[in-house]
Amino acid sequence: LDILSTTDPTVAGILQQELQRQRDHLELIASENFTSAAVLAAQGTVLTNKYAEGLPGKRYYGGCEHIDTVEQLAIDRVKELFGAAHANVQPHSGAQANFAVFLALLKPGDTIMGMDLSHGGHLTHGSPVNVSGKWFNVVQYGVDPETEQLNFDLIRQVALEHRPKMIICGYSAYSRIIDFEQFRAIADEVGAYLLADMAHIAGLVASGHHPNPVPICDVVTTTTHKTLRGPRGGLILTRDPDLGKKFDKAVFPGTQGGPLEHVIAAKAVAFGEALQPEFKTYAGHVIENAQALAKQLQERGFKIVSDGTDNHVMLVDLRSIGMTGKQADLLMGQVRITTNKNTVPFDPESPFVTSGLRLGSPAMTTRGMGVTEFTEIANIIADRLLSPEDESVAQACIDRVGQLCDRFPLYPHLQNLVPV
Ligand code: PLP
Repeated sequence: LDILSTTDPTVAGILQQELQRQRDHLELIASENFTSAAVLAAQGTVLTNKYAEGLPGKRYYGGCEHIDTVEQLAIDRVKELFGAAHANVQPHSGAQANFAVFLALLKPGDTIMGMDLSHGGHLTHGSPVNVSGKWFNVVQYGVDPETEQLNFDLIRQVALEHRPKMIICGYSAYSRIIDFEQFRAIADEVGAYLLADMAHIAGLVASGHHPNPVPICDVVTTTTHKTLRGPRGGLILTRDPDLGKKFDKAVFPGTQGGPLEHVIAAKAVAFGEALQPEFKTYAGHVIENAQALAKQLQERGFKIVSDGTDNHVMLVDLRSIGMTGKQADLLMGQVRITTNKNTVPFDPESPFVTSGLRLGSPAMTTRGMGVTEFTEIANIIADRLLSPEDESVAQACIDRVGQLCDRFPLYPHLQNLVPV
């Protein structure tokens, strides 16, 4: 029974349109994915009705016996997934997870060191518009101008000069493997906490395709909805149980109220999925597909930042074709390809215009596409960007996008938003 369509056809109609949009577009936003129908189902449940401030076994409200079981299951599964001694699964988002870590370990005025936003860092790593940039003294590092990759000599120099209380690694637009051991050595040399924000790569870490920061860093934060393919949310992990207690307090009552237990149930489902062998296969395909996309774009003459990718994401530097990220993003949208404009390292354009386009493979890999399809996607992108004025090319691109979407249906068992 489609309750929503009956009781609120207006909202149901909007949701139906969004489902259709997701079905008939190529989703290349690197931070997005499609959860399983089981994850969707867990979120739309009676758990949304329950207040459960506190932690399993230590709540401020009665009636939490089943909530406790599901939250403990999420904790146990994610500890197993990443080999963590302690996990807090309550952060409502990645930004909330980072904020709680700052509250636990820092005081206003402390120095933090993160990657420059325009080089691939995240807003919560010290941007002036975020609380991390307003409350802390921020020093930033960037990528090497030649290789466009992390340069640990430069990073060490910044750390030695400023002696930050916390060093943050982990990025929103960095396509290479992160060497956490090198960060650890620098953090130890200057006496800093080391935070890895693995939001983008968490799924690749879970599957063993990227080194795991948990045994190396003091604390690891992540979102649960990117390569990890869970519900929208955040997570804090640590190898140190004493620090873990601090993070628990910083999440509640420090920065949040009642946890979203329906989302936590969905996190438990997603962690269970990520523990299965099929997830390892999926993550391997994510990387193969990203590499196929990058390679074919290079064949077609595009410059990829750092000359390729080791993970799920890449940045196309559009300066060589005299186009901005804003223009390219618009052209992509017109042929039903969803992307985002993004600064490239040392970008001369503003963050609203940018010189880059960020592309990622997690979502379309979830739909089942492989190297052949990602090569075709690269060709569609190239055809569109290299002939931006040609309407017949645009129409052909729309048709080719439609063919790909038809061949790899999204949520084939969902009709009118209800599983059938
Ligand atoms: N950290 C990194 C590295 C991210 O890329 C993002 C999101 O894009 C976040 C944190 C923030 O996550 P959320 O949007 O869930 O707050």
